[in-house]
Amino acid sequence: MSDPQVSFLLERVLASGGYSVIKTQDWPSTQKELQSKSPAMIILSDKLGESNGLDVAAELAQRWPAIPLLLFVEEDTPELLKKALSVGVSDYLCLPLRAEDITNAVQRSLEKARQRREWVLLETRRNTASLQRKVDELEALARLGRSITGSLDLDSVLSAIVDAAVELTGAEEGSLLLLDESTGELYMRAARNFQDEFVRTFRLPVQDTLAGSVLRTGKPALLDEATPQKIKTAYLVHSLVYVPLQLHDRVFGVLGVDNRHERLPFKDRDVKLLSAFAEYAVIAIENARLYANTILERNKLETVLTQIQDGVIVLDLDQRILLVNHTAQLAFSLSDQPLAGKKLNEVFSQSEILELVDSAGKSLSNRQEITVDDGRIFSILVTPIPAIGLAITMHDITNLKKLDRIKSDFVSTVSHDLRSPLTAIMGYVELIERAGTVNDMQRDFIRRVHVNVTNITSLMDDLLNLSHIESGFDGSKDKIYLDQLVSYSADNFSKQFSDKNLKLVYEIPDAVPPLYANAIQLRQMLDNLLANAVKYTPSNGTVTIHMEVEQNQIIIQVRDSGIGIPPMDLPYIFDKFYRAGNVGNEVTGTGLGLAIVKSIVENHNGRIWVDSIVGQGSTFTVVLPLGQP
Ligand code: ATP
Ligand code: MG
Repeated sequence: MSDPQVSFLLERVLASGGYSVIKTQDWPSTQKELQSKSPAMIILSDKLGESNGLDVAAELAQRWPAIPLLLFVEEDTPELLKKALSVGVSDYLCLPLRAEDITNAVQRSLEKARQRREWVLLETRRNTASLQRKVDELEALARLGRSITGSLDLDSVLSAIVDAAVELTGAEEGSLLLLDESTGELYMRAARNFQDEFVRTFRLPVQDTLAGSVLRTGKPALLDEATPQKIKTAYLVHSLVYVPLQLHDRVFGVLGVDNRHERLPFKDRDVKLLSAFAEYAVIAIENARLYANTILERNKLETVLTQIQDGVIVLDLDQRILLVNHTAQLAFSLSDQPLAGKKLNEVFSQSEILELVDSAGKSLSNRQEITVDDGRIFSILVTPIPAIGLAITMHDITNLKKLDRIKSDFVSTVSHDLRSPLTAIMGYVELIERAGTVNDMQRDFIRRVHVNVTNITSLMDDLLNLSHIESGFDGSKDKIYLDQLVSYSADNFSKQFSDKNLKLVYEIPDAVPPLYANAIQLRQMLDNLLANAVKYTPSNGTVTIHMEVEQNQIIIQVRDSGIGIPPMDLPYIFDKFYRAGNVGNEVTGTGLGLAIVKSIVENHNGRIWVDSIVGQGSTFTVVLPLGQP
């Protein structure tokens, strides 16, 4: 204010009206006060010494638009006032200055400013509310997303989706309809604000209904009618939105909200929102379907595993139990207590199992025989399963063992009983020539009888020998070096090896510990295995003798590159007189060799098995315990 008198007058009138006044004389101090005190209004003169009051007013109005500006003019020419209004001045004062005019002008300006502030506040609130609604929608979507990924309970997820759809669209009721493939009708899978009875009995044909047309076309439907429309017999609504539930071009349901009582129209925004919810519903339904399928498959597998006649035990990589099926539980008298998660050695104490599992994957021997409490005998086999652990399968061989016993007894009796008449025949055949002269032809016949009886006798000897071994007869055991025994036996076959040009490979470690065993029997065992390898390997092949020592047992393998054994013959080749189908009649043999080998191995508490591929060769593996002196 340049005029001190005007300035003084204004100050007095304002102070008496209860306003506090700050006076400034230059631009910097004006700016400072405006920033620190934020006054309710500014009064300035159009003449401000050097500078033009209107320019200053323009600057003030631009920088502090919320503070009303009152301009004092000495002369109120229309041009000046027009200019003043255009730069943003809210009112003006002019001479003569009367107290009443001043107070009125000030109050008018303050009132205008207050109104403007309120309007701004209201607008802001309205904008904030619409933002808040958007935030709510986003939160609801995020919440649904979480509940879908976090829950496998389809009912609760679908209810949550319908609830959210109703709440965020402000609808009166909402429902999720699914297509019943068997009847071709829609039924209500989830609902909000419908009567329970209505939901239960709801059935809607696809033909000639609005929901049905959404299902057929895959396009949303938006209805807004002054007179209520029928969406189902005797069911009228004013407005509704239906959106399709669609997966890979297949529409299988409809999500909808509607207003029955009031005519509140839905907008495009609601269609978009509902479509987003529909997508969630599709994901949830698909998830539930996949999950149910997985469970079904798992149950099937579990039923197979538990009902199967063979025993099955599955362990994880830490040797913790994953599964023990019914047969295995019965065999080891394990009650129905939960076993999953327990350590193998907390549940099983049988050394056969523990050792087998410990050496699984590291050892050539992966099977054992075990006699369980009720007397049954199982053959157990351990198989490593990558990334899971290992499986122990057990097969009941009690009956096979019994049959074997009966057969052995029979063979031993028969061969024993046949021996005496054979000796008699032999004796009388020798006596014939002493009893009188025989012609050449007769002598030839006698020779043939003699040869054949000798053959039969040696066969009987083999059989008796076998039953001796089987009955554990002649079990004297000595300290034996198996590597030496192997080389003696192999030397014995050197002629056959060179005749067929077979290569013999030794894979024998340096210091093989001694074994407590019956030397004659082990020699017989090696002879029989080598004889077979030579016999069943065509010329120019290879025979390998592999030996390794592991803990307190010794493992011997005789491998050949021969004709191999057909899978269907494999279970029987250790039986007496059994000869596999791949061997022609021209290859001589009685089929007793492997039966003898097996008896010897068992007599030494060992195990034997064969792995063979037709046309590639066979591997016979024998595991013998080192034994005690
Ligand atoms: P023998 O009593 O003279 O030994 P064999 O050799 O026929 O007669 P086993 O030694 O018991 O009888 O063998 C039984 C059958 O197993 C054989 O007839 C043959 O079919 C099969 N077999 C045994 N060893 C081998 C092998 N190394 N390669 C292929 N087949 C074999
Ligand atoms: Mg043989």
